[in-house]
Amino acid sequence: MRDFTKSKQAFVESSQLMPGGVNSPVRAFKNVGGDPLFIDHGKGSHIYDIDGNDYIDYVMSWGPLILGHADDKVVADLQAAVTKGTSYGAPTLLESQLAKMVQKIVPSIEMMRMVSSGTEATMSAIRLARGYTHRDKIVKFIGNYHGHSDSLLVDAGSGLATFNITKSPGVPEALAYDTLTVAYNDEAAIKDVFAAHGDEIACVIVEPVAGNMGVVPAKKSFLQTLRQVTSEHGALLIFDEVMTGFRAAFHGAQALYGITPDLTTLGKVVGGGLPVGVFGGRRDIMHKITPDGPIYHAGTLSGNPLAMTGGISTIQQLNEDLYTAMDKKVTRLMAGIAAAAKQYQVPIVTHHVGTMWSYFFNEHDVENFADVQQSDQAYFAKFYKALLQEGIYTAPSQFETNFISTKHTDAEIDQTIAAFERAFAAVS
Ligand code: PLP
Repeated sequence: MRDFTKSKQAFVESSQLMPGGVNSPVRAFKNVGGDPLFIDHGKGSHIYDIDGNDYIDYVMSWGPLILGHADDKVVADLQAAVTKGTSYGAPTLLESQLAKMVQKIVPSIEMMRMVSSGTEATMSAIRLARGYTHRDKIVKFIGNYHGHSDSLLVDAGSGLATFNITKSPGVPEALAYDTLTVAYNDEAAIKDVFAAHGDEIACVIVEPVAGNMGVVPAKKSFLQTLRQVTSEHGALLIFDEVMTGFRAAFHGAQALYGITPDLTTLGKVVGGGLPVGVFGGRRDIMHKITPDGPIYHAGTLSGNPLAMTGGISTIQQLNEDLYTAMDKKVTRLMAGIAAAAKQYQVPIVTHHVGTMWSYFFNEHDVENFADVQQSDQAYFAKFYKALLQEGIYTAPSQFETNFISTKHTDAEIDQTIAAFERAFAAVS
């Protein structure tokens, strides 16, 4: 048995200092019924906790670390950057360098603003959509998560789904009233909403592959319907690619599905493990932002030179071939996990898109949040702890995604499949 004594002691202390002992709720491991691991360091595909336990990591800081932990070039570039100063609050060449890279890889982003988190990116995109259209209502999908700004904290996935919170106290009724929520992948429902409120809706925001209720891919016809109804009614379509950008595919989910949104938000990989978010899209819309236009957006640390360096150094190392290789490994991992579950007669649904993967202990396929809720979460919690004992670190909630990096080897995929087999044996 792995010993977690030091992590347990650290958690007692941090629980006196921070609510739930953590700075982001799902880290608390509450719904899998254990104490979180306190991490000492990571290298490549592995992380090491403060008790000295070693794990193959599939959380990857919840997505950003596509090159794994402490990639040699990223570390060297950051070390060089920090000697030049940590922040200037004035333009640098680094911002344009990262912006050009983003524009080239996601061409629908004709202009953009850099921010410091995915939350800021989606919050700013929503304000822009409302300001541009002079409308207040927005549409989001049940089980999609877009960060923790007020308008978007309604029927959200991720931590809200994990802790069964449909609307956070503190979100003014008036703001929640303007957020219309619809079941994911439900084309008839979105058409109905537009039939009823079409000329009041500023935008539809969607995760083009949902990753905050486990991985739930959108049907292509669903995204096509979103494109069609928003265009017909003068509303904007926002693809929240904070998770799927550089993850579902090198060029993002919009390339995978062949659908061009008006605005896109990015985060996670675009900062390579440092705090970066991006919102951007059509040039005519982006020009409405201050000082070109009247819609306000700002940030003391927006475009921070260290954060830009993290993004540049990461994206410079990415290419299509790496994605093909990662996709192949995840496909094999999913087949191995499904076969292991079958061996122990455990009903399972596995989903993956590119480098994102998850599984549901469910008899039926999963297309939306209601389906995810039918999964056996008690089994998930037991299984989670068995996996940890086997040295596999995955997302501690059914309502989250796992990720691989370029550093995960074929041998580690084999080790992981074998660990899943042992975990099924232990739990079944
Ligand atoms: N949008 C999506 C799709 C996300 O997955 C997340 C975070 O997981 C966010 C927005 C919020 O990003 P951040 O946690 O950086 O604020």
